[in-house]
Amino acid sequence: MLFSILFILFISSVLYGFLRDSGVPLLLVFGAEVLFEAFFQVKGQGWLHLVQVPVTAAAALFLNVESFAVLLVMQPLLHGREFFSPARMDAVVFLGLVCLTSLPVGLYMYRLKERMKDYDRSFQELQSRAKELADNAPSFTDDTLVSRYLSDLIEAEDDIRGLLGIAERAIVADAVSLFMSDGSELSCRLSSGGTGVVTRGDGLIYTVYRSKNPVLHYADPPGRDIRPGYSRDGEIATLIAVPVMEESTVFGVLSADSSRYRAFDQQDIPLMELVARETAKTLKRQRVYSQIQLSYNSLRILHEESAPLARALELSALCNRIVESAERVSGGSVVFLLKKGRSYELLAGGSRPPLEKKVSSLKGTLLEMVQANKDPVYHPDVSAFKTRALPFHSRGVKSVLALPVMHGQKVKGILTILSDRKNAFNAMQINLLEILVNQASVSISNVLLHEEIKEMAFTDGLTGLFNHRCFKEKLAEEFRRSERFNDALSLMLTDIDHFKKVNDTYGHPAGDAVLRDVAALISRAVRGVDVPARYGGEEFAVLMLKTDTRGAWKIAERVRKAIKAHEFRAEGHLLKVTVSVGIASYPADVTSGDELLERADEALYSAKRRGRDRTVLYGDLK
Ligand code: GH3
Ligand code: MG
Ligand code: MG
Repeated sequence: MLFSILFILFISSVLYGFLRDSGVPLLLVFGAEVLFEAFFQVKGQGWLHLVQVPVTAAAALFLNVESFAVLLVMQPLLHGREFFSPARMDAVVFLGLVCLTSLPVGLYMYRLKERMKDYDRSFQELQSRAKELADNAPSFTDDTLVSRYLSDLIEAEDDIRGLLGIAERAIVADAVSLFMSDGSELSCRLSSGGTGVVTRGDGLIYTVYRSKNPVLHYADPPGRDIRPGYSRDGEIATLIAVPVMEESTVFGVLSADSSRYRAFDQQDIPLMELVARETAKTLKRQRVYSQIQLSYNSLRILHEESAPLARALELSALCNRIVESAERVSGGSVVFLLKKGRSYELLAGGSRPPLEKKVSSLKGTLLEMVQANKDPVYHPDVSAFKTRALPFHSRGVKSVLALPVMHGQKVKGILTILSDRKNAFNAMQINLLEILVNQASVSISNVLLHEEIKEMAFTDGLTGLFNHRCFKEKLAEEFRRSERFNDALSLMLTDIDHFKKVNDTYGHPAGDAVLRDVAALISRAVRGVDVPARYGGEEFAVLMLKTDTRGAWKIAERVRKAIKAHEFRAEGHLLKVTVSVGIASYPADVTSGDELLERADEALYSAKRRGRDRTVLYGDLK
């Protein structure tokens, strides 16, 4: 009966323990203890305590310290009867023993647990360090990846050295050497016989180079000198030389030599030719590799350079960028000629000495052709030119590449790329620069369009003068400045007299023509620093900087008289007009920009009332 109760208690405690995760160890220990105890009660095998208690205690300690405490508390409860019976002292002694054995076991378990915690800690550290390493691992950029891939692919020097070694062993030569041509001379690029191979300018290898045919030669009779076309440490008595070719072009010679007489025979020639073919392939791979690398780099630069060009919104900043980019892409020095009216403004890159600021004519230079044909021009050596190749200072320049920068159908600029070397630019660089210039043309067109739109927003379409809105902004700005620097500022307002009559008599288009001419006359009569504007229909305003009433009067009279004297041609009619002018000045008459306008208008009104065709100063109204 007791056993069944204890068993049920055990099962439920285990279940409960599973359900409540945190209680599992505690309840397991409790359950195990109860099960053991039940077994003793039924079977009466007291000796089993010797096993049971240390095992349970160890398990409890291993799981956690609380379980151990519970176990200790449980002991007097389970064995309470024995405690109170003096006859059963052995049970007390036994319990004492249990506690004593539990202590070292517990201690050991505790240390085991600590060590496991240490392991845990170091494992976590290791994990986080690995993660850190993975996060900070140098990631290969596209560049490094590409160059790694290519350099793995190509190890030309080593490959060729290997080939020469194979040939040397196969035909038992003293040395096998590769000579490369620079167009006219052969020079030793690699030799299995070590360094110190010197070409002689003439001899058998040159014969092979020119004839494209292999040569086998002995010193005949032995001891007689043969002329291999090169010399190296040691005597040469037998020589095989074969051409190294790509398609039908010879670009080198492969030679094998020996100090032995008749060391090689005709059968060795095919082997040497095979090695020459393999060498040619390896060299071709290397050349293609350098080209790929060059194109890759150039394309990357082009990509990097094009983006800022597309973003630039201001002409001078854009031109500077174009020059910088062209210098980077070409490796040459750059001068950009930007068209301003009839002449060209010059903009030189950092690598050129300072130049003249502008040139007025391209006549007789290479650039005249670019301007006329709207096509790029490349000349690999202009030093032999009898006339000037370039319209600006260009001493020492040999290669010239000039590319037109277009705005619609017009040449808006010419980009010149210069070098002190002959043949400085290859086809690929020229191609890249053409792409860059195309991009530059698009950007320049954008910027010019932007400026045109801006100009349209600020200027009056009929007369080209500033419009009303822009004039008001300028007035506010100049008034602030005059106030700050204590400068005088005058405003004249001009209104054409009886203008309605002009329209009525000659028609509106004639009126427009008159307005255009009046605007031009005003612009011409005022100074460069003054700000003329079309203020209204047939009213014009001129802001005169650093000008007091007296100065303004003079200018106004000049304007009025110029208009009065002018004979207008409008739609086939000749006619004359006069204007009335009102003037107000700061600080004499006003304290604000708005007041300046009001008072000038009052003066103008007064001029009209007093009979038109006159100038009235606001100061004289009082
Ligand atoms: P006054 O100024 O001497 O008093 O006489 P006015 O006839 O000039 O009178 P007012 O200044 O009031 O008239 C302005 C006229 O200017 C009215 C309008 O027909 C004409 N006008 C305004 N803007 C334009 C324009 O853009 N083109 C043409 N052709 N005429 C314009
Ligand atoms: Mg008017
Ligand atoms: Mg008028």
